[in-house]
This record gives sequence, structure tokens and C-alpha cells, in this order.
Amino acid sequence: MIDKFLRTIKYLRISVTNMCNLRCKYCMPPEGIQLMERDKILSFEEIVTIVRHAVKLGITNLRLTGGEPMVRKNIERLIFMLDATEGVKDLAMTTNGILLKKYAATLKKNGLSRLNISLDTLREDRFSQITRGGCLTDVLDGIEESLRVGFQNTKVNVVIMRGINDDELKDFVLFTSKYNVELRFIEMMSSGMKNMAEENRFITTEEIFQRIQDEIKLIPVNSNTGHGPAKTYKINGAKGVIGFISPVSKPFCGSCNRLRLTSDGILRSCLLSGGEVDIKSIIRTNKGPQAIEDAFRKVATLKPASHSGRSKFAMQHIGG
Ligand code: SAM
Ligand code: SF4
Repeated sequence: MIDKFLRTIKYLRISVTNMCNLRCKYCMPPEGIQLMERDKILSFEEIVTIVRHAVKLGITNLRLTGGEPMVRKNIERLIFMLDATEGVKDLAMTTNGILLKKYAATLKKNGLSRLNISLDTLREDRFSQITRGGCLTDVLDGIEESLRVGFQNTKVNVVIMRGINDDELKDFVLFTSKYNVELRFIEMMSSGMKNMAEENRFITTEEIFQRIQDEIKLIPVNSNTGHGPAKTYKINGAKGVIGFISPVSKPFCGSCNRLRLTSDGILRSCLLSGGEVDIKSIIRTNKGPQAIEDAFRKVATLKPASHSGRSKFAMQHIGG
């Protein structure tokens, strides 16, 4: 599938739930969110049906996200089913890592290719504040276990917020001395709810890079971490590398190759803007294979050239 702006679409992000076992301040309201009625959520069989058609149109790479994908009951079964789907080449997951220690081995065995783990602080008390009650040790144990069971090209995603965790830049850089991961500093986006973007928490990756360089020498390295070459850096003697992702200051819309499927079956063209198609209704009214594939083609045509940097959606709904 090629969109109006000649971008080849080959990547589908699938949100399997909007529920989460954490309530990060920049993502969820303090009271959490309402449980979705069960029949509104796509079943595993429906997700696989959608993926089978997506593959016919050239989508080869999948990422499971949420909410927290690991709170979806029997997620390991979905991984098994997707891994067995012909044409799926890469099956990744974005997770907060809380349940990873328990499930890493099963996820690996069932065919999960790669993990992105979100981690915004290395301090226990701060972790509990940012996530409203989470336990840092669970995530660190999860990272260790995932490396132990053989996951490679693991990414650790850090959203940097001024006055919240920007005094930990050096600690995060040193984290790569110990762990063979790609640690990525990510700019905070303004999402659906009133959030910290309005409190001057936003920092550009340019500033983050400069502040690190002032203290520690970053050596440029070319690494291939799953989706082609990425510009990354290393500190002397480290096992892992460091990257910078700038969705706000340098949007990568020009090379965006993805579509998104929400847990309630809406196929979306963009994280932050663009149009959508209700693919669940198409499936549940048995409109047939042609209609499912037309839904993908339609949504590809709705992909905007670029996004505005702001979203009316909450990240836990659309998958971050
Ligand atoms: N619960 C999983 C997790 O936290 O990794 C997956 C879903 S979460 C919505 C996906 C990613 O979106 C996380 O890395 C999270 O840090 C990021 N995210 C959520 N809200 C964000 C925001 N306002 N700005 C930047 N990243 C955000
Ligand atoms: Fe949950 Fe992930 Fe949102 Fe944090 S960022 S509240 S872990 S969905």
C-alpha cells in the first residue's frame, strides 16, 4: 500500500486494550479510565482476521501496544496466533515492563520478536509518583529477565520532562553501561488530556543531547535496531547505545509507514491527526474480505502529510 504522499505502508500498531496497571501522569487521568464493555473490544480472532488482510496489502511488521498490552488476558495466545500468521515478519511489543519478569520467557517462546520498554525514572520514589503507584524494581527485574531469555534489540523509552526527571540524564546514559539496550530519550507530546505540556515540562531532544554532551562524550555509532539504520550514540565501554526521538521538534511524518488499530476496532491513519475507519463494524456485519481491504486502502488515503503535534486522543486509547 502506498499513500497519497508516496509513503509505503508496512507497519500496523495494534492496541489490544486501553486498560493499564499504571497511571502515568502524562497519559492517564488520576482516577484511571472506565472499563470498556467487553463486546466493544476486538477478539483475538478478529485481530488476526484484520492482520491476515493487512498482510495481503503489504503490512509485514506489527507492534502490540495499549494501554498496557500485558494486562490483556492471555496476550501470549495472541502473540502465538500472530506469529503463526503467514506474512508477519516482525512482531514487537511496547510495554511498561511491570509484568515482564513473569511473562518474558513465554512471550519469547510464543514468537514475540522485540520489546520496547518504557521507563521514565531510575528512582523508586519518583517512579511511584510519575506512574501513580508503580514499583521500579518490577520494571528493572523485567528488563533483566527479558535480556536473560534472549530478547535482542530491546529499546528503553524515556520521556523527559523538565523539572520531573531531567536531572537523571546522566544516570540514564550510564544505564547503557550495564544493559545492552537502546535507550531512547523521547520528547513529550501533548495528548488528549490536560497534561504536563501545559506546565512547561516540554524539552527538545536537542537540549537533552547538548546537556549530556556537556558532561559525557557521546560517540556516534550506526546501529541497525530492527527498522533500518538509526543514528545512535555510545559512551566509552558501554554495552548499549543511546538514541533521540523528536516527534515534536522534528516530526518524522515524511517517512511514517504506519497505521494504527485501536482496541475497539477503529483503524486510524495517524497517532495525532488524520482520519479513521470503523473496521470492527465491517467485520461484525460480515461485509467480506474486499470490504476489509478497502478499509485499509481508505485509511491509507486519509494519512495526513504531517501532524499538528497535538492530539485530541489520550495515548492509552490510541497506543502512544
Ligand atoms: N503501556 C505501555 C507503555 O507504557 O509502554 C504501552 C502504551 S504507552 C501509551 C506507549 C508509549 O507512549 C510509552 O512509551 C509512553 O511513554 C508513551 N507516551 C504516553 N503518553 C505520552 C506523551 N504524552 N508524550 C510522549 N510519549 C507518551
Ligand atoms: Fe499505562 Fe503506558 Fe500510559 Fe503509562 S504510558 S499509563 S504505562 S499506557
